Amino acid sequence: MGTDLEAIALAARQALAYVAGADERAVAPSPEAVAGLGRLGGPLPDGPRPASETIELLAEVGGRATVASTGPRYFGFVTGATHPAALGAAFLSSAWDQNAALPVMSPVAAALHEVTRRWLADILGLGPGTEVAYVTGATMANAACVAAARDALLAARGWDVQRDGLFGAPPVQVVIGDAAHVTLRKSLGLVGLGRERVVVVPADDQGRLRPDALPDLDPADGPVLCCAQAGEVNTGAFDPFGPIHRWVSDRGGWLHVDGAFGLWALADPARRHLVAGLEHADSLATDAHKWLNVTYDCGIALLQRPGALSDTFSARAGYLPPAGAFEAMHHTPQSSQRARQIEVWAVLRTLGRSGVADLVRNACECAILIAARLRTGGLEVLNDVELNQVLVRHGDGPRTERLIAAVQRDGRIWCGPTLWRGETAMRISVSSWKTMPADAEHAADVILACAAAQDRPRGGG
Ligand SMILES: *Cc1c(COP(=O)(O)O)cnc(C)c1O
Repeated sequence: MGTDLEAIALAARQALAYVAGADERAVAPSPEAVAGLGRLGGPLPDGPRPASETIELLAEVGGRATVASTGPRYFGFVTGATHPAALGAAFLSSAWDQNAALPVMSPVAAALHEVTRRWLADILGLGPGTEVAYVTGATMANAACVAAARDALLAARGWDVQRDGLFGAPPVQVVIGDAAHVTLRKSLGLVGLGRERVVVVPADDQGRLRPDALPDLDPADGPVLCCAQAGEVNTGAFDPFGPIHRWVSDRGGWLHVDGAFGLWALADPARRHLVAGLEHADSLATDAHKWLNVTYDCGIALLQRPGALSDTFSARAGYLPPAGAFEAMHHTPQSSQRARQIEVWAVLRTLGRSGVADLVRNACECAILIAARLRTGGLEVLNDVELNQVLVRHGDGPRTERLIAAVQRDGRIWCGPTLWRGETAMRISVSSWKTMPADAEHAADVILACAAAQDRPRGGG
């Protein structure tokens, strides 16, 4: 049986049409389009059929039931779009079907791993020896980092976690901020450190960990692992890394930073002051599928303690000499893996240093613009807009909920709710490379029009 090139060509044409139309279509799919997904179901077919028929159906029915987050007007969660360089590279890397587990399985993946490792360390201002591992997202990047931290901290106390597990081990003292991302606790739970068995440090009104509230932990009671945050998921605020790092290093501990989107502030020289002290972190986690605008799923673990990843994730005996080249399967939780570095390479090479800085700066400027317009229009902006996040309230929580529902029904833009200080707020995240100041103006227009319609008395003359 030959390769069905027509099915692939059809998919490529449909993909191009989708991308070309993403700017114009409603951001959320219609209820009819979602109901139409039933056509993809039914019983498992009894036998084969042409691949092109399957692709046709998928493109038609599935494409309509997508959320157009790859366009310029999606402001929900913290969700990047896909840069053309990333999508093109994704087409190629899918066609190549490379397994990035070992260099012998994919020389191109191995080469681009090393190139992106150097480029990421450079653009983020980390040490030239920084180790990089690609995983599925920031949740797994956090998990990989805290697993490496756990093992290194306990190895220094004579305990081999990989051999003996955590039963009977000295207790690791885990410290997180009160506004840590919910998935950080999931990552801690996953590696056996516990979601609730943490010391929670109070945060300030922007969600920044308060260094004056760091507890007086004694390292004699167990090694200290502190997880700080670059980019609070509602406000975009950064923890004060300088004082946190001093507190950690006084205790001989490990400083990890969750920077799922905020870490990219490091790429913009104008925003470096927000992240002062971050360069001392032992490990950092970020996403490329958010602000770097590659396709899902791409998270990155960055370690400034060489060897820590392989001590945890090596699938060989520890007494063997290290391999000559980087072997992804011995540095990540996965064995077989997609070559995520191909898209990261494509975006970094296409944008260059100044292009990535512009990507960050433009999104921040759009967020500032939206905040200013909404404030002028009578809405309450709840955060200091220093990054790409805007938190807004229209009167109280219930009124804000109605506004969010109206904006979502309107369909021209999309943003969602969050709970801020116990009450609903509207959260606007600018994370798409495509969002330009005109789109930001448009978003403000839509939100203000929905708010005005809400305030207008119904019925009457
Ligand atoms: C999005 C996010 C995460 C989780 O990232 P995933 O890629 O969804 O796994 C973790 N921390 C922060 C601060 C985030 O914004």
